[in-house]
Amino acid sequence: MNWLTNVARPRIKSFFSGRETPDNLWHKCTNCGEMVFHRDIKAKQYVCPACDYHMKIGPEERFEALFDGDFEKLTLPQAVPDPLKFRDKSRYTERIKDARNKTGQDDVFEVATGQIASQNAVVAVQNFKFMGGSLGMAAGEAILAAAEKAVELHAPLVLFTASGGARMQEGILSLMQMPRSTIAVQMLRDVPLPYIVVLTDPTSGGVTASYAMLGDVQIAEPGALIAFTGPRVIEQTIREKLPEGFQRAEYLLEHGMIDMIVHRHEMRDTLARLIGLFMNQPDQPATPAQDEATSGSVSTPVAAGVSGGVAPPTS
Ligand SMILES: [Zn+2]
Repeated sequence: MNWLTNVARPRIKSFFSGRETPDNLWHKCTNCGEMVFHRDIKAKQYVCPACDYHMKIGPEERFEALFDGDFEKLTLPQAVPDPLKFRDKSRYTERIKDARNKTGQDDVFEVATGQIASQNAVVAVQNFKFMGGSLGMAAGEAILAAAEKAVELHAPLVLFTASGGARMQEGILSLMQMPRSTIAVQMLRDVPLPYIVVLTDPTSGGVTASYAMLGDVQIAEPGALIAFTGPRVIEQTIREKLPEGFQRAEYLLEHGMIDMIVHRHEMRDTLARLIGLFMNQPDQPATPAQDEATSGSVSTPVAAGVSGGVAPPTS
């Protein structure tokens, strides 16, 4: 008689039956498998307490973590729906509908304005959960709208990328968003206003080949995959094993492709320092409320955390 199957398992089952254990109360870390209670993982900004893996998060979580308090979401322009009447296994219109239901968003980007350590900022966040964060016409519109808002407010644009690349259902029209978003970045350069990019896991394809790599400062989250072509495709093509950590943030930093890797818990303070430095403002004295949230590190000298490799933008 197997004790484990015949005795222990039924007892464990009966112990848990009748109790409410909805799946969404626990988050499983996709890296190490650790189960973390939802309130704890939220408090940790979705960074695994066991292995420090940075889980994918959406615009809402980013805005809440970055802005001092209230923020205002921009109403983004609508793009032409399904211009090519595209259909693969299912219709493009169906895919869009599903993604909208799943995320509560209209398309991949959400843009908001607010203050980061009492400094105005426009923040744009790409949501990987919306069709793999794919770059389509709506995303192009969103980036342009974000840049225009930054110019209007004379504020920096901070953009968080997360994307598998161009949206194939829009064909050439999705590729046209690469030059379009480049023009949006140029609008900021012309003023000049800082454009800060935060590369998150994963950023690839046409997104990496356009606005994701045009920042005045290129920040990445730890462990983020940042590539044009993904490692699997490269390995299949060249039939060689790629080096350990290839195309990860740490590898890119070592090879001079990005400026810094910033832990999610340090992101707000780092962005606050950079914005202060770029906008030539003296350091903001932290209010008592901010003191708690930022451990007072906003009031350290601006140059301390960003020495080397960061210069004010020149057009
Ligand atoms: Zn983990």
